Amino acid sequence: MNDSSAAAPGIDPTKPHPARRYNYWLGGKDNFAADRASGDELEKHFPKVRLGALANRALLQRAARFLTAEAGIRQFLDIGTGLPTADNTHQVAQRHAPESRVVYVDNDPLVMVHARALLNSSPEGHTAYIEADLNDPESILRHPTLTDTLDMTQPVGLMLIAVLHFVHGDGAAQPIVRRLLDALPPGSYLVATHATSDFGTPEQQALYQDLVRSGRSDVWTRPYDEFAALFEGLELVEPGVVPASEWRPEPGANIPERTDINVWTAVGRKP
Ligand code: SAH
Repeated sequence: MNDSSAAAPGIDPTKPHPARRYNYWLGGKDNFAADRASGDELEKHFPKVRLGALANRALLQRAARFLTAEAGIRQFLDIGTGLPTADNTHQVAQRHAPESRVVYVDNDPLVMVHARALLNSSPEGHTAYIEADLNDPESILRHPTLTDTLDMTQPVGLMLIAVLHFVHGDGAAQPIVRRLLDALPPGSYLVATHATSDFGTPEQQALYQDLVRSGRSDVWTRPYDEFAALFEGLELVEPGVVPASEWRPEPGANIPERTDINVWTAVGRKP
């Protein structure tokens, strides 16, 4: 993306933003120099970070397919949309069930511009977009676009894919997830992925803490226990809490080393 083209209000090309950095790691073109510099800095310390991003993206697609094809879900609330790439949630879902309805939520105005332009629904289904912050779940839940698009008496697939690690603070993600799940009826599902430092060496973990403390990384990693606690009260779908690449991999898929995929994943059903 040409940095001088950033005229849209609310978009600051001089500050790295997670959606654009993730787009850079995935090989996309919708990013600015500051995003690429931030991506390169993290990659310098964690050379396999692109592998983790790709594994996360592939998980999103397998999980959306599972929810639609196996769990019978027809409505999705996808928070942390990301810049559109191939096979976004509604495309995967509508391939199996064209009537699927998806509400996308993101706090990056650039993501919303792209989403409105590119994330178009099948004629039978529906896609809608809310610019809101996950830190304020009420603003999402009471948004008229949400209530106009989703029937909150029917099960919803809540997708929190690579977004909860932007909620900073020990224990800070759990009340947000709880609030969102409380608003969904029984039979709803939670899919979450989350960056973790669990697999790093003590030296890598110390280095990572330093990057976060000094503001050079905005990804707040969480350990296994804190991630697993997000699923309390839900029925975990097999194989439970695993690295993204190990959650129902495609048959014959090459499974990377756990130390290369620093992303926890789980899917749970609200009883
Ligand atoms: N879910 C997609 C994209 C992940 S990138 C995928 O897994 O492929 C993370 C996304 O979360 C970005 O689009 C970023 O803009 C968004 N995001 C980060 N913090 C957020 C917040 N507090 N509220 C809403 N969206 C947020």
